[in-house]
Amino acid sequence: MTIPSHKTKPRVLVVGAGLGGLAVAIATTLTGHFSVTVLESSPVLGEVGAGIQLSPNCSRLLKRWGCEKYLKDNVVTPKYGRAYRWQYGKILSEREINHTTEAKFGAPYWHVHRADLHEALAHRVQELGVPIRLDARVVSVDVGPETGSPKVTIHTGEVLECEFLVGADGLHSKVREAVCPEAGRPVATGDLAYRFTVPVSLMKDNPHLAQLAEIPGASSWWGPDKHVVGYILRNQTTYNVVAVFPDDGSVQGASKAVGTLEQVQELYKGWCKQVTSLMDLTEPNGLSKWILMDLAPLPRWNNSCCALVGGACRPMLPYLAQGSAQAFEDAATLAVCMDTMPNELDKAAEIFTSIRKSRATKVQQFARAQRARNHLKDGWDATSGEESKDWTSGLYGYDAEEAARQTLASRL
Ligand SMILES: Cc1cc2nc3c(=O)[nH]c(=O)nc-3n(C[C@H](O)[C@H](O)[C@H](O)COP(=O)(O)OP(=O)(O)OC[C@H]3O[C@@H](n4cnc5c(N)ncnc54)[C@H](O)[C@@H]3O)c2cc1C
Repeated sequence: MTIPSHKTKPRVLVVGAGLGGLAVAIATTLTGHFSVTVLESSPVLGEVGAGIQLSPNCSRLLKRWGCEKYLKDNVVTPKYGRAYRWQYGKILSEREINHTTEAKFGAPYWHVHRADLHEALAHRVQELGVPIRLDARVVSVDVGPETGSPKVTIHTGEVLECEFLVGADGLHSKVREAVCPEAGRPVATGDLAYRFTVPVSLMKDNPHLAQLAEIPGASSWWGPDKHVVGYILRNQTTYNVVAVFPDDGSVQGASKAVGTLEQVQELYKGWCKQVTSLMDLTEPNGLSKWILMDLAPLPRWNNSCCALVGGACRPMLPYLAQGSAQAFEDAATLAVCMDTMPNELDKAAEIFTSIRKSRATKVQQFARAQRARNHLKDGWDATSGEESKDWTSGLYGYDAEEAARQTLASRL
């Protein structure tokens, strides 16, 4: 495959076809100014893992980008958010979602399977005519400008050149090494997470789970050093569970490892019946546990005509369910900056960083603080946890495209 010529439109290369990279491909192509190609190391396109929560700050972008038609049959709109105490399942806090969320923030809250979200984005990318080049692992990156335009070399030795390069290659980013060689390495946070699903049909017959199966909601159970999050996916057929617990060293040198049902049951022994019943209904084969990693803030996210987005520049811990949402905000902001300054793409990258870095760093800090709230420090006798602070307005009400346009208007 050849990369389209610069004679028509500036060429944009996006490294990584994860959720962030596909969002960049859609948003930059929709500007009409760029000829975009995505490079993906994997020979097949797809996503692993289970569910993902999409708050209004990202659902508004997905709707605007024309992805809703590919998503709508697979999203579930939760009606409530509820935090329970781990031991007896006492409700610690409760909030209405969707009815009020959509009225307040102008976009819905959705729950979706990661594979369905990825497929919807990939459909939209294909519909827009953006080539995704699979089995194209980037092994070296030259962002220029001393040596000319940005270039990447893929594992076959082929060199690809472009006018703008986007590093959407996740936590262990190759592009980051060129943009910011002094960046540290990702570090383990001290938590692992089991991610698995339970058939809703089985939950309906269980007295402790029937209510969770009937009315879709975002539920979490908070306990000492551990917490569990659950919600319904896929046309209300599948219940997604994320169970976070202290790192026991069993996932080392990889992003995930095989787990066992016995370990999950042992970890949550003594928790309320909702949690233990969910664990008991888990399919024991193929259980995986993931390591949660963090990265010290980078001094910059851009260098010459190259910018980093998503997990490549700031991995987001999952405690606020904002990882992909923030990657979508990155994509939207970058596209507005590039659209406004197609002839000064290095400046566009600079302004992109100045808009995104402060907001995303704040969301990262909120996510880290939420971990402390979820992991109650109390013992067996305590009966209540701290109420969550209302951080939702600034988070969910944000319109990344509008915010970028306002900043650009004030600066140019
Ligand atoms: C347990 C857990 C729960 C989560 N829950 C939520 C949630 O509810 N809501 C939410 O918004 N977020 C959630 N997240 C976070 C979210 O999943 C991530 O932040 C998001 O997927 C990051 O996307 P990305 O595209 O930046 O990176 P990635 O998804 O890592 O994609 C990077 C892509 O680049 C490719 N690649 C890597 N290196 C190269 C190379 N050298 N050459 C070519 N291609 C390459 C990879 O194969 C991959 O396809 C959760 C994360 C975890 C761990």
